[in-house]
Amino acid sequence: MSPEDHYAVLGVDRDASREEIEDAWRFHLKAFHPDRFQDTDHRGRAEEMSKRLNAAWQVLGDPAARRRYDRRRPSVTVNGAAAAAPARRPREIPCPTCTTISRVEDPGGKELLLRCPGCQDQFAAIVGASLVERPRLERRWWRIDYRMLLAADDGEGHIVSFRKLPRELSLADGMRISVVFRAGTDQPAYAIAHHGGVDMLFPVR
Ligand SMILES: [Zn+2]
Repeated sequence: MSPEDHYAVLGVDRDASREEIEDAWRFHLKAFHPDRFQDTDHRGRAEEMSKRLNAAWQVLGDPAARRRYDRRRPSVTVNGAAAAAPARRPREIPCPTCTTISRVEDPGGKELLLRCPGCQDQFAAIVGASLVERPRLERRWWRIDYRMLLAADDGEGHIVSFRKLPRELSLADGMRISVVFRAGTDQPAYAIAHHGGVDMLFPVR
């Protein structure tokens, strides 16, 4: 296994300033504070994430330690390609009907049509898109929805409307998100926040 990418954990670029790094660390520490999560599984992941955030800050927040870390880690970057690279890994997408997991290669924010290996339902999922801006409430003529604007790596955009978003779901601009739709509909069933190798799954209806 390759060593932890502290930059990916904090969601910052390799050339981020110390202020940017501290800012990201504080933001994510708050977002992943275990007390915010009711679900035991989420809470466990949040604890794991907090540890990794602190480990990253210990290295990247200390100029001498950061220089040593930068020297040691292999340079895989060409024009910032490495920033996107850790995000491109298989994603675990639950079936909206029976929750059986499908493992799919991250298509970089494209919409996929998947067939559940369990119940054979066919459903759509936007996988590995990046959040353009935090969801905003929008009044439609009969109700109020959250609208989320997602972008694929090739620039293609998706607008997704949610009736509700769980309060625990902290979303920051640029965050990697997947959305699973109910079989045969365009109604979101799950939102999945991917962050630093940890996936947090939230039912959204
Ligand atoms: Zn299924």
